[in-house]
Amino acid sequence: MQGLIADIDLLEVEKNQPESCDFKVTEDDGKGKRKLYIESYGCQMNFSDSEIVTSILKKEGFGTTSSPEHADVILINTCSIREKAEQTVRNRLNFFNGVKKKNRDVTVGVLGCMAERLKSKLLEEEKIVDLVLGPDAYRDLPKLVKQAEEGEKGINTFLSREETYADISPVRLNSNGVTAFISIMRGCDNMCSFCVVPFTRGRERSRDPHSIIREAQELFDKGYREVTLLGQNVDSYKWSAVENNKARLDRNEDVDEIVNFANLLEMVAKVHPDLRVRFSTSHPKDITDEVLHTMKKYENICKYIHLPAQSGNSRVLELMNRTYDRNWYINRVDAIREILGEECGISSDMIAGFCTETEEEHADTLSLMDYVKYDFSYMFFYSERPGTLAAKKYEDDIPLEIKKRRLQEIIDKQRAISLERNKLDIGKEFKVLVEGKSKRSEKQVQGRNSANKVIIFDADVPKGSYANVKVTDCTPATLFGELV
Ligand code: SAM
Ligand code: SF4
Repeated sequence: MQGLIADIDLLEVEKNQPESCDFKVTEDDGKGKRKLYIESYGCQMNFSDSEIVTSILKKEGFGTTSSPEHADVILINTCSIREKAEQTVRNRLNFFNGVKKKNRDVTVGVLGCMAERLKSKLLEEEKIVDLVLGPDAYRDLPKLVKQAEEGEKGINTFLSREETYADISPVRLNSNGVTAFISIMRGCDNMCSFCVVPFTRGRERSRDPHSIIREAQELFDKGYREVTLLGQNVDSYKWSAVENNKARLDRNEDVDEIVNFANLLEMVAKVHPDLRVRFSTSHPKDITDEVLHTMKKYENICKYIHLPAQSGNSRVLELMNRTYDRNWYINRVDAIREILGEECGISSDMIAGFCTETEEEHADTLSLMDYVKYDFSYMFFYSERPGTLAAKKYEDDIPLEIKKRRLQEIIDKQRAISLERNKLDIGKEFKVLVEGKSKRSEKQVQGRNSANKVIIFDADVPKGSYANVKVTDCTPATLFGELV
């Protein structure tokens, strides 16, 4: 299965990160008369959505299963970000076709970005599919499942301007019981020219901070010790009691009680000093010094920022419609170093071979990496997505071999920088939140430090506890240490 979904567009240095393009399936919970199987692809927002979907169906009496053959309802929560991601879903639907031949009563649904992008075309093209639901329509799932069981195919791809599922308490899936994700906003109002997200996830809206704090408190009470606040662009979080739609809130000058991202971070940090707080993703145009100072003020706000650059060249950034240039990006990195110091982890997303990118412009990406010294990056080559601004305006003119060669150069550079950064940690002591046994040995445990680096060390300490660890060795992806 892992081989089946191997995505050649994506070559990660580090797998264990919020933005990693991975897949997850539900586990057997031994509950419920009817069984739900969900397979989720793409970013962490999608995994988080699957937890909301599971919660909605749990109320209807469903339990979860790890086996599609034992399911009454099979859902596939999809990603459209690159062509390869959609192809993977098509292959899985072929596989589920075999399952449906053996069990004609099973209902098969497609959720998420691909459902939103293709809408009724999916029902026409994939005969096995009974329901298609976009990311804002999950409350409709029980109704559509019932209809499908009565033989009627269903679709809802309505994009809401307000929906945040704030009142739904997610059922934690694939959980280690220590770290959890909390969705704080939905949609995206940016229009990066390469990106399909604004079309599949709709307008930006922020979730009521009180419901976020409640969720964080509940997680802490259950033993969780780390929450990651999730959004496509968390620094533009903006909420008021009268309005949660970002665009409308920006236009309305009369609203004075506004909660911004720095305020929200502070509120979550105050839930408990033993609850670590992370967040992802930060857009370079929006991250403010106020956020950096709030991070500095609270020890439990982790010193790690995922700040995707996409390119190191200002002309390419303009074509990408990222709304910042190389100098602006460097200025934000300098502010991070000044306020939070050299040890603050910084990571990026990079796209190789965007339309018209020259060799010199590609070299600018490599030199930006040398300047920033990213701890790790998610690296892709450009994949044209139908309907995006780039697909409409620019020719996808960089040949695949050149895209792949440039991507490989970016990966090689990142690997070298990751090793260089990790070597700097040798001899230093870090507070590590233990997440469980290491995959390498029963005698070892693994966790992460504040800068989000994975540390493996010999110890018999329970997951969810904090340990002080001195780093003794490293690879580009992992630190090794000993308990102090
Ligand atoms: N909101 C985040 C931001 O602005 O950084 C990113 C969200 S997107 C789900 C994750 C990453 O996928 C992007 O940062 C970008 O590097 C990559 N990506 C998006 N569209 C792409 C495309 N058409 N081709 C290749 N990579 C793409
Ligand atoms: Fe896509 Fe840009 Fe929005 Fe990120 S900020 S989701 S890359 S449009």
